[in-house]
Amino acid sequence: MNIHPKVTPIYQTSVFKFDSLAELEEYYTVPGRGGRYGYSRSEHPNSEELVAEVAKLEGAEGGGVATGAGLAGLLAAVLATCQAGDHVLCPAELYGGSVVLLSVELSRLGIETTYVPLADLYDLAQHRRPNTKLVLAEVLSNPLLTVLDGPRLARACQQQGILLLIDSSFTSPILTQPLSWGADLVWHSVTKYLAGHSDVTAGVVVARDPAIGRRLRQVTTNLGLMLAPLDSWLAVRGLKTLRLRMRQHSENAMAVAQLLAAHPAVAEVFYPGLATHPGHALATEQLLNSLYGGMLSVRLADDSAAAVDRFIQKSQLFPLAPSLAGVASSCSYPTATSHRGLTDEQRRALGITPGVVRLSVGIEEPAELLADLEQALG
Ligand SMILES: *Cc1c(COP(=O)(O)O)cnc(C)c1O
Repeated sequence: MNIHPKVTPIYQTSVFKFDSLAELEEYYTVPGRGGRYGYSRSEHPNSEELVAEVAKLEGAEGGGVATGAGLAGLLAAVLATCQAGDHVLCPAELYGGSVVLLSVELSRLGIETTYVPLADLYDLAQHRRPNTKLVLAEVLSNPLLTVLDGPRLARACQQQGILLLIDSSFTSPILTQPLSWGADLVWHSVTKYLAGHSDVTAGVVVARDPAIGRRLRQVTTNLGLMLAPLDSWLAVRGLKTLRLRMRQHSENAMAVAQLLAAHPAVAEVFYPGLATHPGHALATEQLLNSLYGGMLSVRLADDSAAAVDRFIQKSQLFPLAPSLAGVASSCSYPTATSHRGLTDEQRRALGITPGVVRLSVGIEEPAELLADLEQALG
């Protein structure tokens, strides 16, 4: 056979053959499996390609793993670095799914997590415990897009000897490369920007240290967290346009943010690209390629669920959907989704009032998005 596909084919197989006992022995004993494949729960070419591409973008020399959902990546990252008796520290503004994994599931296994407001997190000497092993933080928070000072948090973690794991799902390596700040691990919900087309759930975690990379692979094999071949392939295909998409997401979001900031039906716009955003200076300093991403939130002037519902029913291009970061725009209602477990007062304390809507701005023709918003708010 003399077949040279330009694109890696989908290796839709659970198992690979060995020609001899010597090859089998090599598979089990040579570090890195001697370049061989055996069983797809442990490794297969499609997930390896995805991890290698992300590791290249993030500058991660320790490699990593691809998992069947973003959250499985967090599970792999925590189990690769922590054990029973260890403590994880996070900002209070953390993604709800991460909170559930840490505080409902992993707490039962003896890994405890506590939360402090992001603004206080940098004072690690104050908030750490003797057993604090890991800090998990996001670059941009949901839904109000609070901006993390990544280099500052990384310095604090290094001073305290604590590992830093960054959830980069909202920014992608086109906007942030946390290992360059001094973080130890970067985690993505590939479901979001990396795959980008709302057709796959996946996660990826990459590490600076090869020893952590090895532990990530062991945990992924031992827990059966591996991403499937077809899904890996879809994510790799998505990645090929990541740079183009992030540019268009960001340009469109900036145009949308400017329109909404001047609109009488809108009280407040939360977008780090706007000079009025409290994190604007930090975002400008920290985000790469002069891009601010595709995520923004608004507080409607009529700060009520009824006003949000009217917007949702009138908009044609921002359907209400429980995910984000796809090529097609969507919106979400934090009060009823990510923050539904909180009381009204708790939500208000975080700035999430009934009229707050989060928009995930896609890569459509910007004029069409602006016209749709005008008519939906009109
Ligand atoms: C969606 C999301 C996750 C979880 O990823 P899944 O692919 O849904 O498991 C983690 N962090 C952030 C910021 C997210 O938006």
